Amino acid sequence: QERLKAFGKESDFAPRHVHVVGAGVMGGDIAAVCALRGMKVTLQDQSVERIAPAIQRAARLFERRHKGDARQVRFTLDRLIADPEGHGAARADVIIEAIFEDLAVKRSLFAELERRARPEAVLATNTSSLRLEDIASALQDPSRLVGIHFFNPVPMLPLVEVVEGEATSAEVLRRATGFVRRIDKLPLPVKSAPGFLVNAVLGPYMLEALRCVEEGIAPEAVDAALTAFGMPMGPVELVDTVGLDIAVAAGKALAGSGAEPPARLLKLVAAGKLGRKSGEGYYRWQ
Ligand code: NAD
Repeated sequence: QERLKAFGKESDFAPRHVHVVGAGVMGGDIAAVCALRGMKVTLQDQSVERIAPAIQRAARLFERRHKGDARQVRFTLDRLIADPEGHGAARADVIIEAIFEDLAVKRSLFAELERRARPEAVLATNTSSLRLEDIASALQDPSRLVGIHFFNPVPMLPLVEVVEGEATSAEVLRRATGFVRRIDKLPLPVKSAPGFLVNAVLGPYMLEALRCVEEGIAPEAVDAALTAFGMPMGPVELVDTVGLDIAVAAGKALAGSGAEPPARLLKLVAAGKLGRKSGEGYYRWQ
């Protein structure tokens, strides 16, 4: 516990500009949290129409955090800049990638980011299930890549896994950890391994809950049992929050491609019912 609290505390790294690529569930919230902590943030997405809703969601968070102080909300919003062309990548101290969980797409993005980024900028991926080494090998200098793995919902959850790949340099690790501290999160140092630490534990737990649903127990009953047990959120609601598509992909990555996810999960994903983000998953959210 003491070592965990001290981890990264010594870092004098004080990033002023963070560039986030991907304005989806995670990227939008990561950008918002960095802006709240006083950093300038540029937010890039290949689909321009994804950026505006992310900024609107951030504005609602700023209003809650600044308790309606309109001036503070304005200042914080001014720090969060829509950047569809990705100009911010050339000036940022930290670049965080939170795009689709697709190895080829992430590899080509990082090859481009490496060319554009300042030499001392931290290059970080928020991947949940891809091997860091498989992304890093797309870089001229793989030691620059680190995992900074946030949890959903980002504004509420303090834990962030700082993932050390086989090639990650000590300095990059130190800076990444320092950055996580600067945004008031708790860095958890982990090695690159399937599921890192948290999802390696959570995966089987969530899967077991979905199997109970498969056997005919209502999601509400499963969730009620686990919240009574002391969990802040039931496992089925957690699957809806994470996104059913992400859960399928992460489950495959964790258990190997041979493992079949529960049939109802696959059926919901095929119907576009991806959880909270699409308005329906195991629960209805509208
Ligand atoms: P999402 O689908 O909500 O958002 C991804 C965004 O990336 C989309 O807006 C898309 O337009 C954009 N994008 C895709 N390719 C791009 C490119 N080449 N350039 C610019 N933008 C691009 O996804 P998400 O749930 O936010 O997940 C993003 C990443 O975070 C994934 O790697 C995922 O594994 C990881 N992650 C997700 C969660 C979660 O609970 N959802 C938790 C931790 C980590």
